[in-house]
Amino acid sequence: MTATVYLAKDRDKSIKRRHPWIFSRGIARIEGKPALGDTVTVCDHQGEFLGLGAYSPQSQIRVRMWCFEKTPIDSDFFLARIRAAKPLRTMLAKRDGLTGYRLLAAESDGVPGITVDKYDNYLVCQLLSAGADAQRDNLVTALRTEFPECHIYERSDVAIRKKEGLKPRTGVLHGEEPPASVIIEENGVAIEVDIANGHKTGFYLDQRDSREQAVKYMDGKRVLNCFCYTGGFGLYAQKGNANQVTNVDVSQPALDKAKANAARNGFDLTRAEFVNADVFKLLRTYREQGERFDVIVMDPPKFAESKSQLTGACRGYKDINMLAMQLLNPGGVLLSYSCSGLMDAGLFQKILADAALDAGKNVQFIERFAQAADHPTHSAYPEGFYLKGFACLVQ
Ligand code: SAH
Repeated sequence: MTATVYLAKDRDKSIKRRHPWIFSRGIARIEGKPALGDTVTVCDHQGEFLGLGAYSPQSQIRVRMWCFEKTPIDSDFFLARIRAAKPLRTMLAKRDGLTGYRLLAAESDGVPGITVDKYDNYLVCQLLSAGADAQRDNLVTALRTEFPECHIYERSDVAIRKKEGLKPRTGVLHGEEPPASVIIEENGVAIEVDIANGHKTGFYLDQRDSREQAVKYMDGKRVLNCFCYTGGFGLYAQKGNANQVTNVDVSQPALDKAKANAARNGFDLTRAEFVNADVFKLLRTYREQGERFDVIVMDPPKFAESKSQLTGACRGYKDINMLAMQLLNPGGVLLSYSCSGLMDAGLFQKILADAALDAGKNVQFIERFAQAADHPTHSAYPEGFYLKGFACLVQ
């Protein structure tokens, strides 16, 4: 028998709209004693069945919904979710020549807390919630059924698991240990991915569409690629015939991979440099030195992890974007992104507008960007839209 969670009166609206989260304050009472990650039945205050979810006693998000009907939460459930998610990815893989993509995007694909990325024949799982962690074996069984040729690896080494009462966990779930580099292709660019040690599950798949959309701005230009990781926009800049690309990151292993990736694609290494520096400081140094660029890419890591960090994050975004605007030649283009989910596109646009004022520049927004299509946003879960960007024409 599963335990039953009864919602408080008038606390069932968002679940009835199929939002997948139940906060602790929305719960009236619990029948039974569910353990960490157990599947629970969710009912409204009158006992009407609403769905099944995973119980997380330590998190503010006390239940994450698996489904809104009576279905066993077993390997067949995950197989059905994988089969629902797969056609979109197969279509994108064919369209954009992808051998790396996000197969399951957690809440947005009906599997709260679970992301699965595919890099060639390696599936890399990140289990972020108590429910996701408890379903590891069912998920692996389902993945092996649908992708019998694939190895499966876990990269659940993320701080957010602490809030769920979970420890970090990494390692092989099926098949072989991943090699130090797995090569993937996207939009005709080859990229090596370090599954065991890279950021996230190894690569920033979510910026793929924005990288491709950036290509048209690059022809013959002097490009500054801030926060380059393993090449990213810099590789696409060279694909787009940039005259010169300066790639900047604080991670030396990432820069080494960026250079190896440029070489792997046959790009002219005399037209690319790889600078180990803090972007905040380097932009000021460049300003003092009078350096100028035609295109600047600004793709920083997440600055706001929680609401309390949002004000500081706004200052950070404004600062680097103001500096970038000042470093552009007249008619230059700033491609600027924010992956902080707490900052919506409207707020980010306002920050860029403030940066323009502080920089003393005339700025026009000429294109808008979003996370790649294999990172969909479910209609019931608008929080799934986290990555946005603007192309700014700067005079
Ligand atoms: N644009 C990349 C992804 C960037 S991820 C792509 O398309 O793949 C963010 C990167 O910023 C990480 O590689 C991280 O090492 C780097 N980073 C974080 N803080 C930094 C700082 N202050 N200065 C320079 N790089 C930084």
